[in-house]
Amino acid sequence: MKKTGCPPSSLELKDECLTPGQIKGMFIKEAKRTWSNGETIVPQVSVDVSLEDCKKYLALVRDADTRPRAIGDTLIRTPRETTLRVCHNLQGIGKKGFRQLLRHETLHMGYPKHDKDFRRIAHRKGIPVSLNDLRGGKVELRGKRKEDRFYSHIGYFNSFEEAEDHARRNKKGFPYKWEIRH
Ligand SMILES: [Zn+2]
Repeated sequence: MKKTGCPPSSLELKDECLTPGQIKGMFIKEAKRTWSNGETIVPQVSVDVSLEDCKKYLALVRDADTRPRAIGDTLIRTPRETTLRVCHNLQGIGKKGFRQLLRHETLHMGYPKHDKDFRRIAHRKGIPVSLNDLRGGKVELRGKRKEDRFYSHIGYFNSFEEAEDHARRNKKGFPYKWEIRH
C-alpha cells in the first residue's frame, strides 16, 4: 500500500522522498561511474523515469531496436532512449540501497541479462545482482528430474557461482534440469 508521507508523484523510500528528476540525476551519475567511457556515452542517452504502481522494483526498459553490448566495463552500444521504471514498492529500502539498485540497472545499459558477464562485472564493482543479493540473502538451487513436473529445493548458497559449481560437480545423479534463483 502506498503511504502518504511523500508528495504525490515522488518515490517514498525508508528515509527519503525522491522526485523523478532526482532519480534521473542519480541514475545518470551512477551510469557515468559504472562505465569506463560513461562520461562520453551516457550524455547521449535520453533517460526517462516512470514511477508506477507495479509489483517489481526497478527495471530498465529499452528501445528494442538496439541491442545493448559491452565488453568488461566499456559500453559498446546502448539504446538512445531508455526508460527507468520504478515501482512504488521500495518503501523498506533506504537511499543507499536504492542507489545500489540503480547501479544494478546502469549495468543493464550494456548487459541485458544477468548472465556470466553481467555477474562478473557486478561482483568486481560491488553491484548487487538482485534485490536478494542486496539484502545479503542466499541463492537457491532448485532441480527437477525428467519425470518431475515441478522444481524442488536442493540447497541454499552464498553466491550464484557457488550454486552453479555445486550443480556442475553433482551432475551425476543430479536432477535433469536445474535453476538458480537469486
Ligand atoms: Zn537486473
